[in-house]
Amino acid sequence: MSIIQKTATEQLALLRSGEITSVELTQAYLNRIHQVEPAIGAFLRVESEAALTQAAEVDRKRETGEPLGKLAGLPVAIKDILCTKDTPTTCGSKMLENFVPPYNATVVEKLQAADAVILGRTNMDEFAMGSSTENSAYHPTQNPWDTSRIPGGSSGGAAACISADMAPLSLGTDTGGSIRQPAALCGCVGLKPTYGRVSRYGLIAFASSLDQIGPLAKTVEDVALLMEVLAGHDALDSTSVDTPVPAYSGSVHQPLESLTLGVVNQHFGAGIDAEIEAAVKQAIATYTSLGATIKNIEMPHADYGIATYYIIAPCEASSNLARYDGAHYGYRTDHAELVEDGTDEGPLVRMYRKTRSEGFGAEVQRRIMLGTYALSEGYYDAFYLKALKVRRLIRQDYDNAFGEVDMIIGPVTANAAFSKGEKTSDPMAMYLEDLYTVTANLAGVAGISLPCGFTKSGLPIGLQLQAAPFQEEKLLRAAQMFQNATDFHTRRPEL
Ligand code: GLN
Repeated sequence: MSIIQKTATEQLALLRSGEITSVELTQAYLNRIHQVEPAIGAFLRVESEAALTQAAEVDRKRETGEPLGKLAGLPVAIKDILCTKDTPTTCGSKMLENFVPPYNATVVEKLQAADAVILGRTNMDEFAMGSSTENSAYHPTQNPWDTSRIPGGSSGGAAACISADMAPLSLGTDTGGSIRQPAALCGCVGLKPTYGRVSRYGLIAFASSLDQIGPLAKTVEDVALLMEVLAGHDALDSTSVDTPVPAYSGSVHQPLESLTLGVVNQHFGAGIDAEIEAAVKQAIATYTSLGATIKNIEMPHADYGIATYYIIAPCEASSNLARYDGAHYGYRTDHAELVEDGTDEGPLVRMYRKTRSEGFGAEVQRRIMLGTYALSEGYYDAFYLKALKVRRLIRQDYDNAFGEVDMIIGPVTANAAFSKGEKTSDPMAMYLEDLYTVTANLAGVAGISLPCGFTKSGLPIGLQLQAAPFQEEKLLRAAQMFQNATDFHTRRPEL
């Protein structure tokens, strides 16, 4: 087995024992990227030189016996939505093509403090809006299991680089499913932490009350390792919560002595693909054989998740994206703004309009229009306020459920990875990709996606476990129990 096929935890042990250096490991990944990236397109930028410099610095520290961080020498790929000081951060948008942040996101600071090596920036749907990474303004990303298919989104690059062995660890963001759904479709593990568990400072905002940063990796223990570094209170994000961060990677191998899992009937209603349903039911049976108790639970408002999410997320997006006006920063139209174009707008308004219509792609414009409409006078009460009330009811459903069960078990998606272009002309079909994931964001609870099978045509299937707020430790332990009993996480696509 080559070094890049090993898990991050195994690589860390080899780095610590001196069997490999960080430069060797980083170079092995850069070679792999060179070889397979043309077919996958997981990255927007590979930062080879900077990565090798960081790796050499970690090796030097190790040699001289200086204290080292928890990820010392491990390469990490980061979604291009996280600000990094003095290096471009595009958010998958033409609007931020030339944006160079003057500061680091808190998670980037944490990675640096942990002595991780930043390999490069992964591709994503523009402003994290999408479920297929086809909305990137730069290029699409291909699913490593079948390059004619999408890798999921919006963190499609973050998931594809893991399953194609182009990075051992990556960071994604999840507003309505963007970590869990691509993890499921690419056959890796992805954790959406509780809202407030990880600082959002320096994360380019899509929908601020829903966005969370989280880890992706090949295994549950690797996700635990990275999560331990990311989590924690941050004075720079007032929504981050000040509760202690458990040693996730230390406890992940302790099986839970008692585990009650809730199954939601609506998850297996019309629309779910038969192979997905069978794999998830098999996973439930695996938990039963591990001693878990299974209970049917009601989530009476789950059916309203998509409608609620697709009001709240666009409303927040329309407000967050108002800052991209061509005047403050980011793209500005080079259309001679004073040229009359037949409208009765003044030159400033014309500049705003042209900048925004040229700088944003179609999906982002659609979200801004939906959000602006739902927030406008006369519609605010009917749409936005109503959605907030339903959101509260969904949270109530979760609170009731977690009074009865430890975790909820179910599918991540209703189907395996679909073909490129299959849903691009049908926004509703694309939005329905998020059926099983958005409710966790609306309620702010934690969720994890892990491999639980393959379709007959060889595409990965994901299993979702959701837990009450700040129960990531238990969630990871329960996920590890499943991983110990199965081998789906060990399979890799042929490339
Ligand atoms: N697919 C969902 C959307 O398009 C979720 C995206 C996300 O989680 N960033 O909004």
